Amino acid sequence: MQYQEDSVNLHSSKSDANTDMSVKNKQDATNNSQRKNDSSRSLIVVKIGGSTFGSDDTTVADLVKLQKQGFQPVVVHGGGKVVSDWLKKQGIRPKFIRGLRVTDQNTLDVVVGVLTGVVNKTLVGEIVLRGGKAVGLSGVDGGILQADAENPELGFVGTIKKVDVSALLDILDGGNIPVLAPVAIKQGRGGDPIQLLNINADIAAGEVAAALKADRLIMLTDVPGVLDSSRRVIKRLTQKQAKGLVESNIVAGGMVPKIESCIKALEEVKETFIVDGRKPHILLECFEKEAGNSFNNGTRVG
Ligand code: ADP
Ligand code: MG
Repeated sequence: MQYQEDSVNLHSSKSDANTDMSVKNKQDATNNSQRKNDSSRSLIVVKIGGSTFGSDDTTVADLVKLQKQGFQPVVVHGGGKVVSDWLKKQGIRPKFIRGLRVTDQNTLDVVVGVLTGVVNKTLVGEIVLRGGKAVGLSGVDGGILQADAENPELGFVGTIKKVDVSALLDILDGGNIPVLAPVAIKQGRGGDPIQLLNINADIAAGEVAAALKADRLIMLTDVPGVLDSSRRVIKRLTQKQAKGLVESNIVAGGMVPKIESCIKALEEVKETFIVDGRKPHILLECFEKEAGNSFNNGTRVG
């Protein structure tokens, strides 16, 4: 990870033909820290999972409230259940490996259409309807998420290679909440055919939080937090303990990319949390109480 030298160039490739791009990214990173110095506002990346799209969900209301209080939320959303429902309509059976969706061409088409369309616009619409300001986009827009497909078993699933946060910063500067659908563009040369890639939303959120040097990364999910082998919530996890839980399979499935993304984000982000998105106003609670050891509403990683 190259954030120190170039906060948005994740993997400096030897054959990187994008020298101009790297320079641009360096400028973006500088602009980022300047913009952040100009502002005392707290930048928080919130990952919303498929479980928190219910009609009585308070997440959107909380986001609007936080925005009005002067926080700068950045939303990265999944779409688990909605995407799976649409896949079923197409007769495609969802398949996951270690929490990542196996993505063939048909699945990719549905994922891209549903995530960047139905799910993204519904979320943006809900924020706007509740008096917030939001702009929806995907990782393809502004070249925010640039990736490679490295695991043939997973198909069109991207490993993020570069994050360009300039489009997100422009949206934040305009007083809007960026709402990001985790679809990436495959890196390539000018003549290459365009290839979109599916990115797990937890991984996208972790990478975006790190590239933005966010103050906090908060992952909302459908369990009370990270659970131990007796299914009790672990309030605080060191990075080492978190890795141990994954290795021993106590953490499995969709919790794996969450834990791994928190660990990755901690290179640049001060605080990372995995909390119960089903709990009303959990997002506000994350800010009301001092989120140190006394944090009682989920798991703090790091
Ligand atoms: P999301 O939409 O929040 O990404 P996921 O289903 O992808 O939801 O991931 C959360 C799921 O991870 C939980 O519902 C739970 O089934 C699973 N999981 C596996 N191991 C653990 C663990 N140790 N603690 C909590 N959840 C776990
Ligand atoms: Mg998930």
